[in-house]
Order: sequence, then structure tokens, then C-alpha cells
Amino acid sequence: MTKINISVILLLSLWFQGCTDKDTWYRGNTHTHTELCGHADSSPEFVTKKYHDLGYHFLILSEHNKFIDPATVAMPANKRSDFILIPGQEITGDQSIHTTAMNIDGLIAWEDEGVPADVVIENHIKRTQAAGGQAILNHPHGGSNLKATDILPAINVRMMEVYNASTRRNNIYKRKGMGFPRTAEPLWDELLTQGMFIYGVGSDDAHILQTIGPNQSNAGLGWVMVRAKKLTADAITEAMRIGDFYASNGVYFKTYEKNSKSYTIEVDEEKTQIMLATLPDWSGLKTDDEAEGYRIDFFGPNGDVLKSEQGSKSTYEIDGSDAYVRARVTHTRKSRDAGFEEHYAWGQPVFTD
Ligand SMILES: [Zn+2]
Ligand SMILES: [Zn+2]
Repeated sequence: MTKINISVILLLSLWFQGCTDKDTWYRGNTHTHTELCGHADSSPEFVTKKYHDLGYHFLILSEHNKFIDPATVAMPANKRSDFILIPGQEITGDQSIHTTAMNIDGLIAWEDEGVPADVVIENHIKRTQAAGGQAILNHPHGGSNLKATDILPAINVRMMEVYNASTRRNNIYKRKGMGFPRTAEPLWDELLTQGMFIYGVGSDDAHILQTIGPNQSNAGLGWVMVRAKKLTADAITEAMRIGDFYASNGVYFKTYEKNSKSYTIEVDEEKTQIMLATLPDWSGLKTDDEAEGYRIDFFGPNGDVLKSEQGSKSTYEIDGSDAYVRARVTHTRKSRDAGFEEHYAWGQPVFTD
């Protein structure tokens, strides 16, 4: 073979490599349980197959203080090439503080007796990073019941669950006396307003896959869409670390472009309608708002609404007078039983200062 032919082949193979390295959106769940915790109902293999069959691209079997090595989990016989398990653990620590340690290389210690909440959180983060991973503070609004003053001193927190499908259940509201909001958005705004650089995650925290119903914590009700060049544990984790993702419980974006000058959201209506048609009645949040369709809200410091627009596309021009801007899309529809219900997607904040 001549030298020229060899260089042409080399160039072509580089070009093909370049082609595969394009940004792709991957759907994933960072928080789910198995029977290994003693209060969930399915094996790691069953849980894995469930998420695979729901069309997810990645899943973390985030067990309470147990490390499930993905290498030990048998994959579904019909496994697609675009599905991976990312190793992880739900660090289940002191003061009911729980943290997903994603992309770690082994079990992480969870004991921290006699220290304040922020030290517990910081320790979870440090141990996760020492194990090669990134941390997500779980259900701060739910089980952990954390306040902004507990989290703010933990300056290394970069991600927290804004939506946890398990802790939003009506039955759990009742059981716990309506003690916490449906999402952690007010807490998120409090942290952002105080200058914390923190991204919002949506997850299932699924425990029950054998019984489907509103009183269960099932699969497929809260997730993240992550933009990455390839589907590997490292690429997904890095994309989340830098905030290149959004959280959802039903709504998909077609356009999600943000920088220090502007923030543009366009809903992928087709994909959203297909998803909403498959979701159970109880997946949406009941609302008194009867304005059916899409609404895009942009929020700034103190959670103030900077702009609210009906429709599936909106841009907010950022002039720098707000320290941060974040976006949320709401879809409102008639509920199949009675009244109206909402589903959402939560865009990440842009920081201007
Ligand atoms: Zn938890
Ligand atoms: Zn959990």
C-alpha cells in the first residue's frame, strides 16, 4: 500500500471516529433500590432489565450502604448496545442524610456520628470523590428534611435531587403529615440565591417493581436527560458534574441552549406526548390551573419569576442583573380521573456573577 493510501485511510478513520463523538441525549436514573436493602422487592437483574426495557440508557443501582458491582449483574438477554450500569451507592448516613455516590470504585463509609449536617454532607462528597465519583445530595426536601442553613456550609455540593418520585407520593404526604413540598425547588432557589453553585437532579428512588400503583415507588417517574459525547460512566458523570443535563418527570426538550447572554428552551412536543401517554394517572401533580398546554417559566434570585410564557418555546435575554437564571417547563393536561395535572422539566441554572 502506498503512503498516500495509508494516510487517506488514517484520515477516514479519524473522520469516522469524529462522527461517533457527537453530542447525544441519554436518559438515566441515578437512584434506585433492589431487594438487597431489605425493603425493596426486586433483584438487581430484574431492576436492570426493567429500566432497560423502559428505554433508559443508564442506571445506578444505588443501594443503601451496599456496593453493587455492575460486573456482577447479569444483563438482559436482549440488551441494547446503548444501555449501561454506572456503579454507585446511596450513602445512607447520620441524620438521615442520603447521597448518591455515582461512578465510584467500591463501597464508601457512611458513619459520621456527632457532627453537624453540613459536615456529614461534606464527608459524603469527599469520600465519593476519593472513590473516583461525583455526589448527588438525595431528597433534601423529603426524608432528610434539610434546611438551606444545613447545606450552605457544605461548599462542595454540586448536585441535589430537586424531584424524587418516591417522596412526592400523595400517600407519603399523608403519612408524613404534608410536611414537605412536592419538589425541592424552594430550597434550590434559596441555595442559588445565597450563591451556591448547584444543579438539580430528578430521580425515581424506586423500591417497588412487582406492584404498580399510586402508593408504590415505581420505576420511570423521574429522571435526568444528560448530553454527552458517548455513553460511558465517566462521560455521563462528567456531563452531570458540569451541569449539561436537565431533570424531568414527563417533558422533553428539543432545544436547550444557555449561556451568560440568553437561555432558550424549546419543548420536543412529539416526544413529550408519547411519554405522557405512557405515564400512569398518578405521575402528574394535581393542579387547579386549567390552562392546558405548555408554559415556560424563568426564575431568578429568591425564586422570583422573571418571565412566564405560554407555549412550547421561549428565550430569556440575560442582562446580568440577576445572579442566576433557571428555567422550568410545565405541561398541564386534563387528568384521566378528574381535574387537571402537571408534568415538568427543570433546566439548570445559568450563573451570571
Ligand atoms: Zn434515600
Ligand atoms: Zn433511596
